[in-house]
Amino acid sequence: MTNTPSQDDALILDSLERFLARDVKPYVRELEHDDVYPAEMVEQMKALGLFGATIPEEYEGLGLSTTLYAQIVERVSAVWMSLSGIFNSHLIMAAAVSRFGTEEQKRTWLPRFASGELRGGLALTEPDCGTDLQAIRTTAVREGSHYVINGTKTWISNGIHGHIFALLVKTDPTAEPRHRGMSLFLAEKGPGFIVGRKLEKLGYKGIDSAELVFEDYAVPADRLIGGEEGLGLKHALGGLELGRINIAARGVGIARVALEESVAYAQVRKTFGKPIAEHQAIQIMLADMATRVEAGRLLVQSAAAAYDRGERCDMEAGMAKLFASEAAVTNSLDAMRIHGGYGYSKEFNLERYYRDAPLLCIGEGTNELQRILIARQLIERNPVA
Ligand SMILES: Cc1cc2nc3c(=O)[nH]c(=O)nc-3n(C[C@H](O)[C@H](O)[C@H](O)COP(=O)(O)OP(=O)(O)OC[C@H]3O[C@@H](n4cnc5c(N)ncnc54)[C@H](O)[C@@H]3O)c2cc1C
Repeated sequence: MTNTPSQDDALILDSLERFLARDVKPYVRELEHDDVYPAEMVEQMKALGLFGATIPEEYEGLGLSTTLYAQIVERVSAVWMSLSGIFNSHLIMAAAVSRFGTEEQKRTWLPRFASGELRGGLALTEPDCGTDLQAIRTTAVREGSHYVINGTKTWISNGIHGHIFALLVKTDPTAEPRHRGMSLFLAEKGPGFIVGRKLEKLGYKGIDSAELVFEDYAVPADRLIGGEEGLGLKHALGGLELGRINIAARGVGIARVALEESVAYAQVRKTFGKPIAEHQAIQIMLADMATRVEAGRLLVQSAAAAYDRGERCDMEAGMAKLFASEAAVTNSLDAMRIHGGYGYSKEFNLERYYRDAPLLCIGEGTNELQRILIARQLIERNPVA
């Protein structure tokens, strides 16, 4: 790491490394290939406090800085990216409550999120829209002390095994601008909250991605995050800054492990009488891979530090997400090239990195969208007049 962790941080990272080496690494390949939810690991993650990692201590979380959290996500993802997804989107939901919720909501929900008793994620995407979130069609209509919700969400991580979701809806579908009619609710599973299909994926296996259907689902009005209608998009996107730092840290994890395995392999695999690490074509690939890892990590650290200082960091988080996710894709492919035929084998981990990495270019805002947001910020922060 470029950062030297404090003593407390080092202890946390040490116990995480032990958990990953002893309880995760030996089992990943089988669970991943069979697409099995890692229920036992989830129990161990609860015990480690991971479901409360970034929840403030006053609400019974660990209250870790985003900077340390990003290092945790990098380490977990270097072993199995899916495992990070189980607590990442849960913590984005928690961030929406801790940043924008009422005091009562924080006291009611955050301790139960922190212990992992209630786990969940973020339900924004719909079958007809993901990037253009203002086009969502799920509606919430106020009826006395409740809102009645109807609509469908898709691709929701933790949709099957999770219990509660930050759910983006339209409380006023006719509002202009459209975001003024959007609200974010905490939606706990119950009558009218129907878990639809489990979605089959190229990678990111083990963690469940599901369609969620809401049919006259009644949610008490006090589950409206912040207690005021019309702020849902802001609340959802505020959580996504942390989400983008998450994704970027995952990218660094995959890019780094692909590099490490390549550096090791290149020294033992021989062609034409010498280790392939002595061929310049391989050296150039290794050098580029290592540079991507370092650059990605620095971008993550810079965005995380800005987030920790409470500064606006959508551009910084977007840059980190864009760069590190592309680094993961490129490094996993380069690692496959370096490993030759073995890189394509299901007996090695590389094929998993190669299947997992592209998701990072799509989730928490596609990389095309990140470029648009970065450019907008560049212009907004540097006006000519
Ligand atoms: C495994 C997985 C897990 C996920 N988990 C969750 C989750 O937990 N919660 C959740 O809410 N969602 C989740 N998603 C959904 C994800 O966030 C969306 O897939 C993503 O936001 C893109 O939306 P879309 O798929 O509708 O693509 P679209 O929005 O239809 O985009 C299609 C293409 O058009 C491009 N595009 C769109 N608009 C523009 C523009 N203005 N300019 C240039 N290009 C543009 C996009 O970049 C993309 O290349 C998950 C997705 C996957 C695959």
